[in-house]
Amino acid sequence: MRRKIAVIGGGQCGLHVAFGLLDRSYEVTLYSDRTPEQLLGSRIQSTAFLFNQTLDMERRLGLNFWETEVPLGEGMLVDFREPTGKSVLTVAGRLQEKSGQALDQRTKFARWMQEFQLRGGNLVIKTVTLDDLEQIAADNALTFVAAGKGPINALFARDDARSRHQSPPRQLAALLLRGSKLLGERPWPKADFRPLRFNFVMGVGEFFSLPFYTHTAGECRSFLFEARPGGPMDRFNDAADSQELLNVARQVVREFAPDDAAYLDDARLTDANAWLKGAFTPTVRKPVGVLPSGRVVMGIGDTVCLNDPIAGQGANNASRLADHLLRAIGEAQGEAFDAGWMQSTFDAFWQTSASYTTAFTNLLLEPPGEAVMHVLGAASQNRVIADEFVGCFETPSHFWPWIADVGAARRFVSDRMANAA
Ligand SMILES: Cc1cc2nc3c(=O)[nH]c(=O)nc-3n(C[C@H](O)[C@H](O)[C@H](O)COP(=O)(O)OP(=O)(O)OC[C@H]3O[C@@H](n4cnc5c(N)ncnc54)[C@H](O)[C@@H]3O)c2cc1C
Repeated sequence: MRRKIAVIGGGQCGLHVAFGLLDRSYEVTLYSDRTPEQLLGSRIQSTAFLFNQTLDMERRLGLNFWETEVPLGEGMLVDFREPTGKSVLTVAGRLQEKSGQALDQRTKFARWMQEFQLRGGNLVIKTVTLDDLEQIAADNALTFVAAGKGPINALFARDDARSRHQSPPRQLAALLLRGSKLLGERPWPKADFRPLRFNFVMGVGEFFSLPFYTHTAGECRSFLFEARPGGPMDRFNDAADSQELLNVARQVVREFAPDDAAYLDDARLTDANAWLKGAFTPTVRKPVGVLPSGRVVMGIGDTVCLNDPIAGQGANNASRLADHLLRAIGEAQGEAFDAGWMQSTFDAFWQTSASYTTAFTNLLLEPPGEAVMHVLGAASQNRVIADEFVGCFETPSHFWPWIADVGAARRFVSDRMANAA
């Protein structure tokens, strides 16, 4: 069989797969719609935090070039608030030795693309069209489409059974900021670690701040706002530029998390491109794209499994899928990479991993149910439970069954209490 594989899209999923294939001696062509230089000078598209398991995958591929520069996110400090801004529950849990990191994707993907060429990969700068895909699929034994939210996604049909949303559940806005109160080891004295700072404001939306690193400014913090459409926090859309967006961010924090407001007092954007706003509909798509010729290509990453960023799972999920694909390719042993292989390979990943990731993400978008409130109430009083809750973000299937079942949640809490006693 030809050992030629093409990957469309130089993001988290496409690059991860491409490096893994090079390691397995495949001839790999990666298509990116931007050069590394264009990427470095572009607007941010994400503020992704990666859990340790994902960082380990990158370490195994020798891609951890920023290991010591990027500040560790060591745990989560979460306040659940009333719409008045009053906190009604605080949970602080550590990721323990499993700390993660958030690195600007512009910084990372630009360097990775250069590294891909150094390792013998074939990088083509091109916005791939459906017509191009025919030729690419004809030339390669397997073609992956890892185009994120790019319009080429239309080739992959929405999977109605696996997709819950018909419209965007949140209006998003994000910024990268530096400020005197935002950096360093312990910016929030309430937490004895450097936290991912979460605020959940009932009926209003959420906002998150992560320790972050970008090539334009070094250590900084990302801020991501998730406004319920039409709700009182849904006011970022009118911001015409980054300064207006920052002003709205200040207002929102002052109003809905007043004890966090001072963190933004002297905050400044890391660079003119360090902001985004918009909305999208989370969608699961069928993994097999059939071209007019009848040839097939496989959608991967956000192209087929696009979730809201509320649970910080998209890039982690993209890498978990990349890892799964590399194992499946290794085990294929001469089997054709046909539609059946693509479907069964994706279904196996969906059943063991992505279905939980998607369900957990969707759960966070809804008001918390009785089961999760029972665990969070206990977590606010008991560090062991808080740590375990926070640790599950790395492998969302570990939230089950107790996250959605009151009886299981009670047993989960009483088991931990008994162990502690
Ligand atoms: C505000 C925000 C915050 C987030 N925070 C987190 C987080 O904390 N943790 C987390 O895990 N995830 C997070 N995510 C999600 C995460 O960024 C994505 O899930 C992840 O980047 C998906 O990887 P991907 O490779 O599928 O797509 P992408 O990383 O989007 O890469 C796709 C690439 O393909 C290129 N492309 C598109 N069309 C074409 C074409 N036709 N030809 C050639 N190239 C093309 C695009 O330009 C892009 O470079 C966040 C997302 C957002 C929006």
